[in-house]
Amino acid sequence: MAVYVGDSRIGLDIRDADANVHFVSHAHSDHTGGVRKASSILCSDITKDLIETRIRYEVKAAEKPRGVEMLDSGHMLGSKQLYVEQDSGESLIYTGDYQMQRSPVAERIEVRHADTLIIDSTYPYPNIAFDDREEVMGSIQSYIKKKGEIGSILFGAYAMGKAQELIRICNDMGVSPLVDLNIEKMSKVYSKHGISLDYQVQDFPNGIGDGTFSNPVWIVSMHLMDRTRNAVSAVGRKVFTAVATGFAKMRRFNTDVQFALSDHADFAQAVEYIDLCNPRSIYTCGAGCDTFAKNLKAKGYNANPINRASNMSMLLENYV
Ligand SMILES: [Zn+2]
Repeated sequence: MAVYVGDSRIGLDIRDADANVHFVSHAHSDHTGGVRKASSILCSDITKDLIETRIRYEVKAAEKPRGVEMLDSGHMLGSKQLYVEQDSGESLIYTGDYQMQRSPVAERIEVRHADTLIIDSTYPYPNIAFDDREEVMGSIQSYIKKKGEIGSILFGAYAMGKAQELIRICNDMGVSPLVDLNIEKMSKVYSKHGISLDYQVQDFPNGIGDGTFSNPVWIVSMHLMDRTRNAVSAVGRKVFTAVATGFAKMRRFNTDVQFALSDHADFAQAVEYIDLCNPRSIYTCGAGCDTFAKNLKAKGYNANPINRASNMSMLLENYV
């Protein structure tokens, strides 16, 4: 998936062999696949820092082509949308992951008009609706308060974005949670860029004992969840397990509790975004793009899915 502006062909969140610039909307690994081989990367300074910290690889920053801007997308710290304006005045936005609600650990989204919109399709169903973020955060705090009196709560979370959000939720109720080494590494980048977070570090799943249990909240990367749970069982203690993700609205996780705390737009937020952006044409992208386009069409929007096979010629027709 790529767009042209002037002489530049800009790859959008994937490795595009013919692109001379690669736009990386944010630091989550499903958007950075092209980073290692790309000659130069267009992203925010924060995204560059997070990627370099995560993969220990120096990212070569690209010159921003003329007519290109990056707009905050609200998804995680440093996440951006790509705004392109041709000399003709024709404009295009690619959202990447985005949300309309305000995360306490990310910049608020900026919505601007564009003639063409390429929009992410993570939650394409009108019947999946997220609750107000403040309410969900309040539910998490209530759970911590209640269960923290009798044990510890073990959260599995993505090390970038969701982990920092959970740390902030704990800090707001006066709790300094235990986090694993990887979450510490990413949280330091957050702190460097102005998001202050109070936490303590534990080499999970090692060293679990009385000291660990004196802290009511443990936050570990998803891949450490099972090993940490097993280590707790081995010392004959119990923790309450939890996840906080929008996918909690769609499936059951193997945890004691699940909170639908999402950093994506649900269908209603997507419609709100589209109405503010007011594009002539909408192209849905990513997993769920067919369903999303169909559901937008049913509401009267001019929406069509794009996939890797079909998008190129369409965008080239419009943007060469
Ligand atoms: Zn993401």
